[in-house]
Amino acid sequence: MNYVAHNPVESIVHALFRPTGVGGVYARTALFEQVIDGLSALISRYRQPDTEIFRFPPIMSRAQVEKSGYLKSFPHLLGCVSCLHGTEPEIRKVVETSGAGKEWIGALRATDLVLAPAACYPIYPMVAARGVVPAGGLRFDVACDCFRHESSYELGRFQSFRMREYVCVGTPDEVMDFRERWKIRAIELAERLALPHQTTAASDPFFGRAGKMMAVSQVEQELKFELLIPINSAENPTACMSFNYHQGHFGETWGIEAATGGVAHTACVAFGMDRLALALFATHGIALENWPQPAKEALSI
Ligand code: ATP
Ligand code: ZN
Ligand code: MG
Repeated sequence: MNYVAHNPVESIVHALFRPTGVGGVYARTALFEQVIDGLSALISRYRQPDTEIFRFPPIMSRAQVEKSGYLKSFPHLLGCVSCLHGTEPEIRKVVETSGAGKEWIGALRATDLVLAPAACYPIYPMVAARGVVPAGGLRFDVACDCFRHESSYELGRFQSFRMREYVCVGTPDEVMDFRERWKIRAIELAERLALPHQTTAASDPFFGRAGKMMAVSQVEQELKFELLIPINSAENPTACMSFNYHQGHFGETWGIEAATGGVAHTACVAFGMDRLALALFATHGIALENWPQPAKEALSI
């Protein structure tokens, strides 16, 4: 029997996702994954030559995330991997006495891993280990499944989602040029896919009162832009891509030296894969055959 949806959002959700018992975490259907695959291949076709590719696991070094400053700026979003430590009898005691009470939860201790909150963090220490950045800078194509402890789960805000990024490390000019070119290329991409879009200066979801000031200064300095596409509503479009200029933050943190001397600067352009796919379905509907022909071609549908 066919599922009868009560409203358009509900019918999209049912065609694309199944619940897993936890908010913001979904099983994805073949229909959704077909579009994710098309988007991944399309983004790869936009890759500049001389770009090195890495695919990271969904977990990363806790020490690296701490050193990167993530814990200071976004402690509310970070998830840490915790396990039961100790001898076999000690672990058995904890799990065997665990009934409805959650004794085993209290016995958990942090490991040296966190859940990756973004795809580009592991790149900077890798680059630092290679020594001075060559003239012309370095470009990377990275991706991983990310986790964020979000405080709401509206459509498009997942706890677990896929992020793809192009990253540039080099002189301030090289890095700014990279980001500006990507802002233009992203608009081309959205137009090819017939997605309504706008690009605006934005800020990261910094923690606390001091964070509000950091957010204001980030917008003023135009360090972050977002490409917004309607998913839930036209009035409140959703950030599906971001264009981030970190200045010398990662260069200083990890001791990365630019070819011209001085601290290397970095920038990244991030594609929220699940949001981009969702934006396509929200705009063009769930029947792929009815999608605009250029979008179908771009996605090999
Ligand atoms: P938002 O403005 O929605 O809070 P953000 O500014 O924190 O997102 P970035 O840190 O720039 O997002 O992450 C890069 C991209 O990853 C975003 O542009 C978005 O497409 C995607 N993304 C971020 N958080 C989520 C999430 N909770 N669920 C799905 N996609 C996400
Ligand atoms: Zn990044
Ligand atoms: Mg944002």
